Amino acid sequence: MNFDLSEEQQSFATSVRRFAEANLKDGALARAHDPQFPFETAKLLAKQGLLGISFSEEDGGAGGTLFDSVIAIEQIAAVCPRSADIVQAGNFGPIRTFVEYATPEQKARWLPDLLAGNTCISLGMSEPDAGSAATELKTSATEDGDGYLINGSKVFGTHSPDAAIYLVYVRFGPGVGGIGSVIVERDTPGFTVGKPSAFMSGESWSQLYFENCRIPKENVLLGIGGFKKQISGFNVERLGNSSRSLALGRYAFNLAREHALIRKQFGRPLCEFQGLQWKFADMALKLDSAQMLLYRAASIESGLPSPYNTAIAKLACNQAGFDVANEAVQIMGGLGYSQDSLAEYCMRRTRGWMIAGGSTEILKNRIAEDVFERKFDQRGNAARAG
Ligand SMILES: Cc1cc2nc3c(=O)[nH]c(=O)nc-3n(C[C@H](O)[C@H](O)[C@H](O)COP(=O)(O)OP(=O)(O)OC[C@H]3O[C@@H](n4cnc5c(N)ncnc54)[C@H](O)[C@@H]3O)c2cc1C
Repeated sequence: MNFDLSEEQQSFATSVRRFAEANLKDGALARAHDPQFPFETAKLLAKQGLLGISFSEEDGGAGGTLFDSVIAIEQIAAVCPRSADIVQAGNFGPIRTFVEYATPEQKARWLPDLLAGNTCISLGMSEPDAGSAATELKTSATEDGDGYLINGSKVFGTHSPDAAIYLVYVRFGPGVGGIGSVIVERDTPGFTVGKPSAFMSGESWSQLYFENCRIPKENVLLGIGGFKKQISGFNVERLGNSSRSLALGRYAFNLAREHALIRKQFGRPLCEFQGLQWKFADMALKLDSAQMLLYRAASIESGLPSPYNTAIAKLACNQAGFDVANEAVQIMGGLGYSQDSLAEYCMRRTRGWMIAGGSTEILKNRIAEDVFERKFDQRGNAARAG
C-alpha cells in the first residue's frame, strides 16, 4: 500500500499549483465575496484543461481520472478557495451525471459551452417538500405529443441564478421507479428562475418554477427507472463536495498556523501556548484522517465511486473541514472573524456542505445500512400503514 501520490499525480499537482499561484492568488478574497458564478475565471481554468479532467477526450475532456480532479480541487483551493467551485462545476457536479448518461446528440449540444466555461449547469433535485427524502419529489413530467410538460418547483440549486441549463429530477410515474431526469434550458417558456436568495456562505440560489413547461423528448436524460443511476452519478458530486470541505479546512488551518507563528500576546508567539498547540494537533488529526478516506473513495480507474466509501469520506471531510475552519477562526481572534481574512469564509462554506449533497445525518443512515447489511426504511410505521 502506497500513501504517496504517484510521480505523474505529483507533477500534475505541481503544475496546477503553479497555474493557481500565477493566476488566482491576486483577487482570491474578492472572488470569495462575489455571489455570482465566476465565468471569467472559469474560462481561464477551461483553457488550462481543468474542466472535464476525467471526461474522455471524445467528450472534450482530458481523459484523466477522478483522483486527478480531486488533486485539481486541492491545488486550486489552496490558493483561491472560491475558484475550487469552478473545478467542482466542471468535473463533479451535475455535469458529471450528464456526461455519464447523455446521448451523443445531447453532449454535442451542451457540453462544449460547459467545458469552455461559457455556461454552467445547475441541479434541480430538492423541492420545498422533498429535501432529504428526495424520492418524495413531486415535480412531474407528463407526456404531451412528442414532448413532456413539466410542472412543479425546485429549491436551493447551486448556481441556479446563473445557469444556462438545469438537470431536473422529475416524476414520470409513481414510486421511486417513476423518477427520472430531464434537461431544461433557461429560456424555455413556462420555466421561471425566481429572485435570488442568499445562503449563509454568500452564494445565491433561486427557486425554480415549472408551469406547463414543454420540453422535447430529446431533453430526457434518464427516463422511468433512472433514479438509481442518478444517485450513482451523484456520488461523484459528493466527492467534489468532500474535496472542497477538506481543502477549505486546510486553507483555514494554514492561515491559522501562519498567524500563530507571527502573532504575539503576553510577549510570546501564539504557537508557544500549549492550549493552542493542542488545537493544532487535533486539527491535523482530523484533516489527515479525512484525507485518507477521501483518497480511498477517489482511487478508482474508471466508472463511479462506491456508495459506502463515498458516504464515509464525505462525512469525515465535512466534519473535519468545518471543525478545523471553525477552530481557525477562534485561533485568529478578531481577524479570523473579519471578512478581511478568508478563515470566516472557509467556516461558512464548510458549514453548508454538512447539509448539501446528503446531510451528515443522511450519510450516517447510509453508512449504518452497510454496517448492518440491512436497508432501514426512514418512513415510520404510521406512514407505512397510511
Ligand atoms: C450549500 C447548499 C447547496 C445546495 N445545492 C443544491 C443543489 O445544487 N441542488 C439541489 O437540488 N439541492 C441543493 N441543496 C439542497 C440540499 O440538497 C438539501 O438542503 C438537503 O438535501 C436537505 O434537505 P432540506 O434542506 O429540505 O432539509 P430536511 O430534509 O428537511 O432535513 C432537516 C434536518 O433533518 C435531518 N433529517 C432528515 N431526515 C432524516 C433522517 N431520516 N434521519 C436523520 N436525520 C434526518 C437532516 O439531516 C437535516 O439536518 C443545497 C443545500 C445547501 C445548503
